[in-house]
Amino acid sequence: MNVDLSRRGFLKLAGAGAVAATSLGAMGFGEAEAAVMAYVRPNKLTATTETRNTCPYCSVACGVILYSKGDRTQGEVAELIHVEGDADHPTNRGTLCPKGSALKDFVRSETRLTEPKIRRPGSDRFEPITWEEALDRIARAMKDDRDANLVTVNDAGTPVNRWTTTGFLAASATTNETAWATFKVVRGIGIVGFDNQARV
Ligand code: SF4
Repeated sequence: MNVDLSRRGFLKLAGAGAVAATSLGAMGFGEAEAAVMAYVRPNKLTATTETRNTCPYCSVACGVILYSKGDRTQGEVAELIHVEGDADHPTNRGTLCPKGSALKDFVRSETRLTEPKIRRPGSDRFEPITWEEALDRIARAMKDDRDANLVTVNDAGTPVNRWTTTGFLAASATTNETAWATFKVVRGIGIVGFDNQARV
């Protein structure tokens, strides 16, 4: 809708608006702002701890910021309350796809695996074990298998040092440096089957 407003008409209108605003203030509406503020929800990220991490879902490896409440130095349990993309991360610059955006539910899921488990021979169920025991068992099994199956030379007598009976899965939720060190260790001991990805 076009309004034909002359300069004189505009000044009259502006003057009326100013009078109305002044009158509202005189009637006590200056406190309206305080009243509105009383209903404004406090920022939920106030007094949270920010922790930078990497989304574990895919090889894009987007940077995330985890916001948790609870001061662990005071014996409190840290509780994750919010996850968002890391605007300073060179990969995603603050963005996250729907999977990454839902990371909080993954972290807080009651069915999330948080400790190593073992299914012992003959058993029909997994039972929790300590990390020490788990790592000792893995190291023992790897050593025994490598001693028994490492192929040091091929049919032509050329040294190859292939270890094909054990594979290694690593996650992409690491820095480049960690991934590089993992690659060097795995290839250094002869493992051929190796995937450094987040599908694990
Ligand atoms: S946020 Fe999405 S694209 Fe980024 S690493 Fe996670 S799953 Fe991959």
